[in-house]
Amino acid sequence: MDILVIGGGGREHAIIWALKKSPRAGHIFCAPGNAGIGQLAECVPIAVNEFDRLTAFAAEKEVGIVVVGPDDPLAEGIVDAFEAKGIPVYGPRKNAAEIEGSKTFMKDLLHKYHIPTAAYEKFDNYEAALSYLHAQQVPIVIKADGLAAGKGVTVAFSMEQAEQALHAIMVDKVFGESGAQVVIEEFLKGQEMSILSFVDGETVRPMAAAQDHKQVFDGDQGPNTGGMGTYSPLPHINPSIIETAIENIIKPTAKAMVAEGRPFRGVLFAGLMIQPDGTPTTIEFNARFGDPETQVVLPRLKSDLLEIFLASLDGTLADVEIEWSDEAAVCVVLASGGYPASYPKGLPIQGLTPTDGDKAIVFHAGTAKNAQGEFVTNGGRVLGVVGLGADIAEARKEAYKQAETITFEGKQNRSDIAAKALV
Ligand code: ATP
Repeated sequence: MDILVIGGGGREHAIIWALKKSPRAGHIFCAPGNAGIGQLAECVPIAVNEFDRLTAFAAEKEVGIVVVGPDDPLAEGIVDAFEAKGIPVYGPRKNAAEIEGSKTFMKDLLHKYHIPTAAYEKFDNYEAALSYLHAQQVPIVIKADGLAAGKGVTVAFSMEQAEQALHAIMVDKVFGESGAQVVIEEFLKGQEMSILSFVDGETVRPMAAAQDHKQVFDGDQGPNTGGMGTYSPLPHINPSIIETAIENIIKPTAKAMVAEGRPFRGVLFAGLMIQPDGTPTTIEFNARFGDPETQVVLPRLKSDLLEIFLASLDGTLADVEIEWSDEAAVCVVLASGGYPASYPKGLPIQGLTPTDGDKAIVFHAGTAKNAQGEFVTNGGRVLGVVGLGADIAEARKEAYKQAETITFEGKQNRSDIAAKALV
């Protein structure tokens, strides 16, 4: 069966890497893809928001399934667009993707169904938001309602910082329409964890849990990024906490979406905070595979990813085999100098062998080929180097060993990915 994957980052590289292992996978197209993806699939120069061109392409090639990676096209209804043309597509419809696309929708849903999440208020009026803010204590969290490429959230440790964030969102409108509403939310202490699940209506099949490192520098210092590294499993987290999160948060949320007439089909990503007493609570939901969580989760999947997607489309997700390996995976992101602020592009990458061994895999996030056919940098996050091993220590060693052999001008990476999990 031929497949079209939409997106062009490290997540889509990992999805295609996993799909490629399926005996049922035929030719794989990726729109728009990247230079690394081009080693496994045929990249098609169509942007993720060009729904008419994408649906026409899928129809012309008679692909058996379309898989959507990024959040923006999901929020804009790409799944509905493919469904309208009768093309099988894996991902949530627009009304279900709203769980990620609107934080006010997500918070109101959780509140209505008594699902644990931080206390909050929402506002569409700046003066009202500001006077509420002044009655609160810091730290406090200010969030733009809509998608903002991970930049719409400020954890403010001073009232001045909170005021600035609110002003930037509601008055300066730095996120445009995404900031028409804000959520002002209680600050939660604790340790973060992500649980991705394959979901179809009320059926929830959790994947392996993972942890991300959002800040750009070691020791969780510096500005937030799209993610500088991940690891899975989480040996230092009590499995009962993960179980509680699945039972008390993820399953009730899937059920709530059905009750609201917005059944979710796709990957539901729960961003959770494990509070100091061990209780998990919800920070956010995403309506797709996480990036770079996917890069450590899918290499641990022993079962056939394509069969899982197809089972979801057939309504048999509850019965499909989903097995995980006991191996650990650690992903170290190699980023361009300057990221997450501005950075140069087009710098040659040395030491990049097409690694797909037992011990390491290199997923491309932002790469291209220059006129000479060499790999060059083409994004903030350039590569995700994944190490595999019997435990986190071994996987981490492999990831860093491989990461050191790859160089490009200005390369930066964190040196403490998964350090917390060395138990
Ligand atoms: P992304 O798309 O990058 O995952 P986002 O824009 O959807 O992020 P959130 O995940 O809601 O935003 O928040 C980003 C980060 O801010 C979280 O991973 C967490 O570190 C921090 N954060 C969010 N809400 C809270 C909270 N209530 N208490 C403490 N920290 C928080």
